[in-house]
Amino acid sequence: MNAFVIDAFEFCRVKERRDGEIELSKLPRLAEESVDKVGVIRWSLQGGSNSHGHPKLILSINGAVSLICQRCLTPFVFDIDSESTLVLARDEASADELDALLADEDVEVIVGEAEFNVAALIEDEALLAIPVSPKHETCPAGLVPESVIKEEKVSPFAVLKNLKQ
Ligand SMILES: [Zn+2]
Repeated sequence: MNAFVIDAFEFCRVKERRDGEIELSKLPRLAEESVDKVGVIRWSLQGGSNSHGHPKLILSINGAVSLICQRCLTPFVFDIDSESTLVLARDEASADELDALLADEDVEVIVGEAEFNVAALIEDEALLAIPVSPKHETCPAGLVPESVIKEEKVSPFAVLKNLKQ
């Protein structure tokens, strides 16, 4: 049996905890974002219930992936470190109800299943943690093409002037 398949509701009911590591190469959508497709994502999953008694999962993931900086186009290591709370609904209709009920809380409502794929959940979480346009905080000197530097130095007034023409 696949180590990454759980009965989501039972997992929460007995407050089970599991953790492990998964290779990036086993997460195709995440590997797609990465430059070298190597590395591992460490994860832990804790079952339980929220204050309303709904089953919930707390998923924590961390790991490093190599991304391409969108400014200087060289790879850099991005550290993923995220935790999220997922409240389980029985079906789509109750998911909508729960969504409305828990709108003020920092939780995500998902439909739980008796054969719930944890690997897919880990991958979704990791993809959400990755910036849409990844960039170095400070690009290494000499790597940013001249044209990009010029573009970033354009003043808003210059843009306005261009618009008027
Ligand atoms: Zn960069």
